Amino acid sequence: MKCLLCEKYSLTQHICKNCQTQFLQPSLYKRKLSNGIEVISFYRYEDIKKLLFTKHTDIGYHIYTLLAKLSFKKFAQEFHFGEQVASVGIDDTTRSGYSHTAVLNRALKSTDIKALYGTLRATNSINYSGESRAFREENPRNFKLKNFRTKYVILVDDIITTGTTLSEAIIVLKEKEKEVIFCLTLCDVSLK
Ligand SMILES: [Zn+2]
Repeated sequence: MKCLLCEKYSLTQHICKNCQTQFLQPSLYKRKLSNGIEVISFYRYEDIKKLLFTKHTDIGYHIYTLLAKLSFKKFAQEFHFGEQVASVGIDDTTRSGYSHTAVLNRALKSTDIKALYGTLRATNSINYSGESRAFREENPRNFKLKNFRTKYVILVDDIITTGTTLSEAIIVLKEKEKEVIFCLTLCDVSLK
């Protein structure tokens, strides 16, 4: 197959090793939501945009798995909290054959992190793509939270744009006495 980035032929990978090292080393970008909670992202949206376009295609699953391995997994291996933390994906409903947030969340599984699936589901699946903050706020996701034991939570999503979705999810978790310690997203649209 052809490497998606340099177009050289590679036997086993959708992105060749060379491009993985050269273009896909994760950073730690931080921003704060209006509620004060920190969001850590690993890439600038612009830098991996082309790869994210595969999301709803056959190779999307492989690309998300690779990106998760390079960023979320590495982060989880270095993360220590002192007690077990739950990681919860934002609306990990399966679409186009897999759930992109579940793929990212799974990569967090480690000594201190227990990945939970199907825990936070949106009852409103309206498409936010290209919509304004006002539109997003007027059309909330209406999350439904399944009960679980762990108090501390890491919220997981693939892209942060305005932060409306994460903020809404945090409110829902707070109502159940959960504490979101921070959010992790693959990439941040606001980074230029
Ligand atoms: Zn390449």
